[in-house]
Amino acid sequence: MTARDFRVTLLGTGVPIPSPDRFGPCTLVEAGDQKFLIDAGRGATIRLHQLKLPIGRIDVQLLTHYHSDHTSGVPDVWLTGWLESHFGTRKTPYRVIGPTGARELIENLERAYALDIKIRVADENLPLSGIATDVTEFDCDGTIYEQGGVRAIAFEVDHGDVIKPCYGYRFEYGGRVAVFSSDTRYNHNVIKYGTGADLLVHEVASARPELIKEAYVQRIIGHHTTPREAGLVFAQTKPKLAAYTHIALLGSERIPPPTIDDIVTETRETYGGPLAVGEDLMAFEIGRTVAVRRLKPSSPPADSASVA
Ligand SMILES: [Zn+2]
Ligand SMILES: [Zn+2]
Repeated sequence: MTARDFRVTLLGTGVPIPSPDRFGPCTLVEAGDQKFLIDAGRGATIRLHQLKLPIGRIDVQLLTHYHSDHTSGVPDVWLTGWLESHFGTRKTPYRVIGPTGARELIENLERAYALDIKIRVADENLPLSGIATDVTEFDCDGTIYEQGGVRAIAFEVDHGDVIKPCYGYRFEYGGRVAVFSSDTRYNHNVIKYGTGADLLVHEVASARPELIKEAYVQRIIGHHTTPREAGLVFAQTKPKLAAYTHIALLGSERIPPPTIDDIVTETRETYGGPLAVGEDLMAFEIGRTVAVRRLKPSSPPADSASVA
């Protein structure tokens, strides 16, 4: 990373399903020497470790909403980032910014892990300053972070009538813009804040027509964005690159889930521009253009297969 680099890495592109291929929702944003996590789902620390990024080096943990698949990795990032040596040994408070509810989550984690903290201070002499927390809550659209040339703006999205609060984020750095939808139905606020984005990272959910009749599938799809709807968002915001994350491919014992090709085909009904289907550890270098890289050691080098 140089001082001007702006990079987004998908650490977890999955949903609540405990899949070894798609970890829980988590996205790393690196702007110059600042590092942000958006959510921390299951396995976030494993992906950071694969990147050889010391966990304690995360400057700010952002939260979008309080579904557990987006937060279950938070205690792991907080506690493991405090440990010695290659984990980074955070010495300053764990900084968290999220919509109303962040404080309740973090204060209860402090209670839940009080004994571990007490033991490690006594046994390992770890600094209390590194396990302290610094939580900021917000309850409306607006700038929630501005420092060192980075501006982060939160915007409310629509994840369903009772799943509130839920916010997406827009990052601005060096004249470039990366926007993250969070979990949402088709929503005009994503279009408003997504307009002018170099990179627009959006969620997607899909099921075959035979399965959509099922009530539980209707409930899930009703909280998310179909490929056709996401295509409408991309067509209106015109990002240099649109990318899918939080990829929910719903199936049953009788009816198989749609494939990645199926969701690309459906997206193409409404959007003809650049599109990448996210994978864990896929990275986007945001410069004059947006370059896609796969950092997974076992994966072949970046190719066009995942960019449709
Ligand atoms: Zn959710
Ligand atoms: Zn989710």
